[in-house]
Amino acid sequence: MIIIKSREEIDLMRESALVVSRTLGMLASEVKPGVTTLRLDELAEEHIREQGAVPGFLGMYGFPNSLCVSPNAQVVHGIPNKTPLVEGDIISIDCGSVKNGFYGDHAYTFPIGEVTPETKELLKITKESLYIGIAEFKIGNRVGDVGYAIQKYCEDHGYGVVRELVGHGLGRKMHEDPEMPNYGHRGRGKKFIEGMVVAIEPMVNQGTKNIKQLKDGWTILTADNKPSAHFEHDVAIIDGKPELLSTFKYIYEALGIESTEEDKFRS
Ligand code: MG
Ligand code: MG
Repeated sequence: MIIIKSREEIDLMRESALVVSRTLGMLASEVKPGVTTLRLDELAEEHIREQGAVPGFLGMYGFPNSLCVSPNAQVVHGIPNKTPLVEGDIISIDCGSVKNGFYGDHAYTFPIGEVTPETKELLKITKESLYIGIAEFKIGNRVGDVGYAIQKYCEDHGYGVVRELVGHGLGRKMHEDPEMPNYGHRGRGKKFIEGMVVAIEPMVNQGTKNIKQLKDGWTILTADNKPSAHFEHDVAIIDGKPELLSTFKYIYEALGIESTEEDKFRS
């Protein structure tokens, strides 16, 4: 069952999404060679709590930390540890918060120092596919339209789109209906309606779409050990159109990046 949110509830959800956005922005300055993902996790938890929110992932389904940190061939759900990041790595950082009783949940994949041109391209295309998917999240479309657009764009670039993990409705629970796959067929699936809020999150592999899981019961990685990227935004349908609740602007401010990619998804 899809739970529709009122304008007031969407405003509250935006606050929760922005807790995560600011946390990722803070982390953008910390993500560099030598730092451990456990340190990033401590900083994130502190930053989330300072904003009057609670880490959304900590304890969820038994997850031990506040961040999912997934370097290189890890796709998602990596557990923070004491291994320092190294120049040339990439790392997906997925962060959740609860504020006002609503979840925020979004993610960014950071390069550590200089990465190879192939890896840069993977990050670029995956992030572009996120916005291509978001543009399809509007009245008149269905779940399959978002998935189709993301899948087509990524596969046209020769990448593998993960099937087993998907985006989702977002609200008082982190995973609400509908599931939002990053693959699909035009015109198929549930219809979008005013007041829906979802997390759209392409998980895109440089090689095969296939994945495997580590024995820790959490970490998902690519079956061929090639790199994987992951970007996620929280999006509402307002006046029939997609509106971003989360933002990467704090990341871009920290890194000195100019971007207009979010402009068309703001009212
Ligand atoms: Mg997430
Ligand atoms: Mg999510």
